[in-house]
Amino acid sequence: MTNEETIENGYGDALSAPFWQAAKEHKLLLQQCGNCSHFQFYPRPYCLECQSDDVSWVEASGKGTVYSQTTVHVQVSPDFNPPYTVVLVELEEGPRLLGHVSEGEPAIGDQVTIDWNEREDKPPLPVFSVA
Ligand SMILES: [Zn+2]
Repeated sequence: MTNEETIENGYGDALSAPFWQAAKEHKLLLQQCGNCSHFQFYPRPYCLECQSDDVSWVEASGKGTVYSQTTVHVQVSPDFNPPYTVVLVELEEGPRLLGHVSEGEPAIGDQVTIDWNEREDKPPLPVFSVA
C-alpha cells in the first residue's frame, strides 16, 4: 500500500501503520528504544531521550492511570456523538494515550485498562474502562 492508501484506510502513515495493524488484533504497541529502553508514543523515527534511531515496536500492558479527563459536549467529529468522556491515560510504560471511556466514569488517579472499539472499514480505536 502507498502512504496515501494507508492514510485513506485509517492505517496512518508509514510510521504509524504498525500501530494500526496491531490494533486490528487488539494489541497496543508502543515504540521502545534499543539503546536506552525509553518508551514513546506517538511514533517517531528516533528516540526522544537519546536520539538513537534504534527504535522498535513492542506490545504494552494496556494498563495505566487516568492523568486527566474531560467530558465533550460539542460535536467535533461526525464519528462521535456528544456528550462523551475522554481520558488521558498515563500508561504503565510511561507514555500518555488519549481514549474514550468504554465503561464507568473514571476519575483522575483511577486505574484503567484498554479495550478496543470496533469500527466499520477502519481499525478499532483504543478505549478505556475502570480496572
Ligand atoms: Zn533512547
